[in-house]
Amino acid sequence: MDVIEFIDAARMRHDAHVAPSEVKVEELQSNRHNHELNRSTRFKKRKMDEMARLSNKMIGFGVPGVPVPPMVINRNLPHYIRGPPYFYYENVALTPKGVWSTISRFLYDIEPEFLDSQYFCAAQRKRGYIHNLPTNNRFRLLPIPPTTIQEAFPLSRPWWPAWDTRTKLNCLVTCVGSAPLTERIKIAVEKSAENEEPPSHIKKYVMNLCKKWNLVWVGKNRVAPLDPSEMELIMGFPENHTRGGGIGNTKRYKLLGNSFQVDTVAYHLLVLKNLFLGGINVLSLFTGIGGAEVALHRLGIPLKNVVSVEMSKTCRIVVQSWWEETNQKGKLIHVPDVREVTEHILKKWISEFGGFDIVIGGSPCNNLAGGNRVSRDGLEGQHSSLFYEYYRILQSVRHLMRAS
Ligand code: SAH
Repeated sequence: MDVIEFIDAARMRHDAHVAPSEVKVEELQSNRHNHELNRSTRFKKRKMDEMARLSNKMIGFGVPGVPVPPMVINRNLPHYIRGPPYFYYENVALTPKGVWSTISRFLYDIEPEFLDSQYFCAAQRKRGYIHNLPTNNRFRLLPIPPTTIQEAFPLSRPWWPAWDTRTKLNCLVTCVGSAPLTERIKIAVEKSAENEEPPSHIKKYVMNLCKKWNLVWVGKNRVAPLDPSEMELIMGFPENHTRGGGIGNTKRYKLLGNSFQVDTVAYHLLVLKNLFLGGINVLSLFTGIGGAEVALHRLGIPLKNVVSVEMSKTCRIVVQSWWEETNQKGKLIHVPDVREVTEHILKKWISEFGGFDIVIGGSPCNNLAGGNRVSRDGLEGQHSSLFYEYYRILQSVRHLMRAS
């Protein structure tokens, strides 16, 4: 559905930008060989086809080793929308129909960049990003993390059956497979004779569960879910980032399942390095466990002032611990709720810090994500409507910074 919607969104934008005398996409399709088409229409059609093709692969505006044609990344953002302040908004790519078109319409009609983190790490993570960052001269954060399951978990190699051909995990989510489930798999596989592959219906049964629950082979016929530290590794966080200090494993899975994939975000944010050599002021909305802050730090961009707005106390503790443990020299301010971020307080911060260089945030996806069977109410849902808070605050910052 996301791909279709992306194409829809791209189409909408295309339609919005074609002059009345120009031919619409549908007409273009029925007129494939119409030599009368003028050059600019042909160019737009080519761009549309290209976007449809790329959106299937979710490579955004290009990923390392997979270049995209310049016509796709040549975004030509209108002058009034170029930073600073830069902004960077993230959410799940797979949303009910119409969500990304609405988000894009609010965020200045900027084309979403749909990208799968599997190009940066060993797990899929299909996300949409809307931002006004430059898209040229992007480079990967080093060191490059393991990009296959087998590289990430070398100890699993001796136990990995040849018939399990996975090289990437599915999206890491907030809940994990249970112990009884892994027991059922062990029993099913053990029924086959020694040194023999299980029959195809067993293989199919096991593979479905392994894919659904992201299970890896940890011993003879034994599968297990990733433990939270392994999840930290894949998500690009320092080991033990979410561990200890009163945080249990269930909570760790939840925090990590909701977070940014650090290497992916760093790939986008690296362009800020040359722009803010002396450091950066960040307004971080829905900070979570600090995926954006960790990315900026790992990129070597000094964090001067970070205002972190995050509801969860546990998340605030994780970010505060990380801040202290990495000897940050800047100032970190915690605010619990985006709804408390008034124009008055923004004005105060802007005059104190000399403005925000970037407004980052991925608002809750609870009412958007496909895994939610109960309250997938779309952007107007109880949690996901917080997107409008992101927009309100960004608008305020832009307005106040222009006025100051
Ligand atoms: N990008 C983050 C995770 C974002 S998930 C990371 O890298 O970890 C969305 C976050 O929004 C959650 O951590 C949730 O606790 C927080 N949140 C929900 N409602 C909020 C509100 N009203 N104000 C601030 N944060 C909120």
